[in-house]
Amino acid sequence: MTEARQATVEEIPQNALEELTGLLPAGTWSTDPTARQEHGRDTWSLAVKGRPAGGQGETLPAGVVRPTTTEQVSDVLAWATRHEIPVVPYGAGSGVVGGAVPNRGGVSVDLGAFDRVEEVDEENLLVTVGAGVLGGDLEAALNERGFICGHYPQSLYISTVGGWVATRGSGTFSSRYGNIEDMVAGLEVVLPTGEVVRTKATPRSASGPDYKQLFVGSEGTLGVITRVTLRIWPQPEAQALRALSFPSFGAGLEAVRTVIQGGVRPGVVRLYDPEEGRPTLERFGHNTGRWLLVLAFDGSRRMVEFEEEVTVETCLRFGAVDLGREPAEHWEKNRFDASWLTGRVAMPGGIADAIEVAHVWGRLEETYDRMVEAVRPHMSEVFGHVSHVYPQGASLYVICRALEADDDAAERAYQDGWRAAMQACLETGATISHHHGIGLQRAPWMQAEHGTGLDALRRIKRALDPAGIMNPGKLGLDE
Ligand SMILES: Cc1cc2nc3c(=O)[nH]c(=O)nc-3n(C[C@H](O)[C@H](O)[C@H](O)COP(=O)(O)OP(=O)(O)OC[C@H]3O[C@@H](n4cnc5c(N)ncnc54)[C@H](O)[C@@H]3O)c2cc1C
Repeated sequence: MTEARQATVEEIPQNALEELTGLLPAGTWSTDPTARQEHGRDTWSLAVKGRPAGGQGETLPAGVVRPTTTEQVSDVLAWATRHEIPVVPYGAGSGVVGGAVPNRGGVSVDLGAFDRVEEVDEENLLVTVGAGVLGGDLEAALNERGFICGHYPQSLYISTVGGWVATRGSGTFSSRYGNIEDMVAGLEVVLPTGEVVRTKATPRSASGPDYKQLFVGSEGTLGVITRVTLRIWPQPEAQALRALSFPSFGAGLEAVRTVIQGGVRPGVVRLYDPEEGRPTLERFGHNTGRWLLVLAFDGSRRMVEFEEEVTVETCLRFGAVDLGREPAEHWEKNRFDASWLTGRVAMPGGIADAIEVAHVWGRLEETYDRMVEAVRPHMSEVFGHVSHVYPQGASLYVICRALEADDDAAERAYQDGWRAAMQACLETGATISHHHGIGLQRAPWMQAEHGTGLDALRRIKRALDPAGIMNPGKLGLDE
């Protein structure tokens, strides 16, 4: 890559700017300081603190484009390739790893105007939306017609469908409805050189490799996703919530593994360690010091009854105590509350994060132990839970918080904690991210994660993005 391609673009050169404004309708290009500031950060803890580049502070985009059509996105990307201007796609900025941070300036392309639920295909259970549709709006539109999306990240109301696809996200009901890669039936993507790729939304295809999956998790490094067709579900007839507690992590894991491998698919399976589960156990007068399991079942009434019964029976065989519905209902009511994160990060000297990884059942306990032990010397509070379960394993969240003397110390604690966590994770053979993605924060560990696979990814990046304009510095793709 040439030096020009590595350069930070804080101001668009005059000739390029004139060309851009000639391409776009009035009102779609802005250098307004507030717009630039808003698009200068996402919800990554260090970005929220204005520290995405350590002591060097923030880099703002030179300007923000709010295209209203795919053709405009195409014009902007072709223009950016001609002038080697960095482009950062921006959904709703809820990403937590710095993916939408314009660390090399350039242009932030905000998909906010792609906000239409275009077609609900009730017969074939498909919905086609603009990439900028917010999750909550999509769910409301589907509910009105008797359907659900099935993808419920904790950030449902503050994230876009394009962002879900670009980060390879996961919702809390993933164990039943799948992750975003299972839901994407078709995509419209504008490539960095301006060509538009549209994939068919058929149930399956053997017409070569499924290249739409290349864009699922591409974090804006390979193009801009403008339209998405998702698989949807009829609204479930019934839902049941249930909580149990276990004497040990091992007992809880064995119970959940047995349930899932037996073919039962609860929508939600969350196994909290004694520290994270304590407030809920105390609130409902249950014994603390135990692992709390929260379950939700979705589906037809008979299926929900059956799955709940089988799951509870299995858990009891592994030494569980049945806590009834209340603790799980409490989880359900508060599931979009992220004050544990945002409140702490907003405090001077405060910092917090959830580091989510994934591993096979046989290595989960060891991964939890090693990661928690590794982070503890750096962050004063460390706890965690398992969720998003599969027949082969599950995702593991290590949640860490600290309150230091000032933000410099908080950043040091955060980065030391992350380094220790990633090293421990890699040593166990776990993957470094289950669903938050890589962005800037995890980029240093992409080589260790993928080995020569990263070189292959870089070659694909070079082929699709010859000028290296798309979201430079993200996903560890820079050479
Ligand atoms: C409180 C909280 C809870 C969260 N819970 C979850 C959770 O349960 N599950 C989960 O998966 N994530 C979760 N997240 C993370 C975040 O919400 C997701 O990563 C989400 O998918 C990001 O969507 P967004 O629209 O905000 O994208 P942004 O933050 O705007 O962008 C994220 C990345 O995607 C790229 N991008 C965005 N839109 C496009 C597009 N149209 N085309 C190409 N690239 C694009 C950006 O360049 C960037 O690299 C949570 C975040 C917060 C703050």
